[in-house]
Amino acid sequence: MITKPKGTTDITGNDALLWEYVNSVVSNIMTAYNYEYIRTPIFEMSELYHRSVGENSDIVRKETYDFKDKGNRNLTLRPEGTAGVVRSYLENKLYASPDIKKYYYNGTMYRYERPQTGRLREFTQFGVEVIGSNDPIIDAEVISLQYHLLEALHINNLQVNINTLGDEESRANYKEALLKYLKPHINELCEDCKERFKTNPLRILDCKIDANSEILKNAPKTINYLTKDAKDRFEKVLRYLDLLEVDYEVNPRIVRGLDYYDHTVFEIVSLDKEETSQSVLGGGGRYNKLIKELGNKDTYGIGFACGIDRIVNMMKEIELYKNVQKEIDCYVMYVSEEEKLHAIEIVQNLRLNGVVTETDSLNKGLKGQFKEADRLNAKFLIILNNEDLKKGLVNVKDNHTKEEEKVDIDEIVEYIIGNL
Ligand code: AMP
Repeated sequence: MITKPKGTTDITGNDALLWEYVNSVVSNIMTAYNYEYIRTPIFEMSELYHRSVGENSDIVRKETYDFKDKGNRNLTLRPEGTAGVVRSYLENKLYASPDIKKYYYNGTMYRYERPQTGRLREFTQFGVEVIGSNDPIIDAEVISLQYHLLEALHINNLQVNINTLGDEESRANYKEALLKYLKPHINELCEDCKERFKTNPLRILDCKIDANSEILKNAPKTINYLTKDAKDRFEKVLRYLDLLEVDYEVNPRIVRGLDYYDHTVFEIVSLDKEETSQSVLGGGGRYNKLIKELGNKDTYGIGFACGIDRIVNMMKEIELYKNVQKEIDCYVMYVSEEEKLHAIEIVQNLRLNGVVTETDSLNKGLKGQFKEADRLNAKFLIILNNEDLKKGLVNVKDNHTKEEEKVDIDEIVEYIIGNL
């Protein structure tokens, strides 16, 4: 038997119901915040990720799915959403108008990671990218959008861990201080961090292996190396988050894995979940340098991404979602060929009016059809028989109260909609 590739999942049954529910909440809340849906390709030119995510990031060094197509082009399955959205913004010259662009996406991402619970090779993220404004009101909006969306899904005890990397000058000051501090300890760090010391020292701070070492606990904090402007900016972000009633904690260890971040960086966790790298539901940050780096247009950007696989895993532990079941509005029952012809029309009429309707296609007898209707949790049964049909009537049974009524065949749609 052919099995699915390692690190991928099939989403079926009740999990699929939860996925659909998450997708609908995502699109409703994104719309309320006035974000526009964007869809970019699942593969891009490899160079895009080398130049945005960064040659020295873990993602580009170890985790991308790279391949050559038949035209010998170097392509990469997207490992994250920001680079593609920024590429699209630049390619479509959307900078020509001074408007702010607020996008949201929802799609699969690919990273060659070691699969475990909550860590897959193909996973799905929804996220936003806001391009064109550097006002801290947007930092706060993006963070609160993510926070309130997870709250709407009844994920409790949420906390945003937030930090700032500051502007270019702050980052340079900080990097110098960090290198100076780490140099005497370099041999005590893990092999990856020894490499990061040369290539991407900020990443040492969120290393999962060295996470509890005293060296990292006592490392200099970005907050102490900020320019006045960067400090004032961060304070505004926090003040706005207070107004928006977002629970946050300033955590100097948050630096995020990708090269393109500056100023605000954040992750969101549920404190109900034991702290592991998989308990992080989402994260993001500002990337004011990225758009210039990719397209020589000096404009601002900020975004976040949340993993739906992890969100659904968490929802499955919540009482509210434990017994989610598929339900339909109507099950139409018939036996003879003549009744079937009426059934076809009635089913179609109900469906075209948005009533979730099913009928038999397995030649089951009435007993079997009653069973099937129960399995589908049908609210109403429409039971057709020739005698009533001749009088223009159908039997409708409320499957919960078990009450039955004869209804005029021409009024069946109105009757069902009125009683749902
Ligand atoms: P990142 O793009 O690494 O900042 O990740 C943002 C969010 O995407 C994480 O908090 C996870 O919820 C999700 N995520 C990232 N990598 C994976 C993965 N390999 N498998 C499942 N979810 C992931």
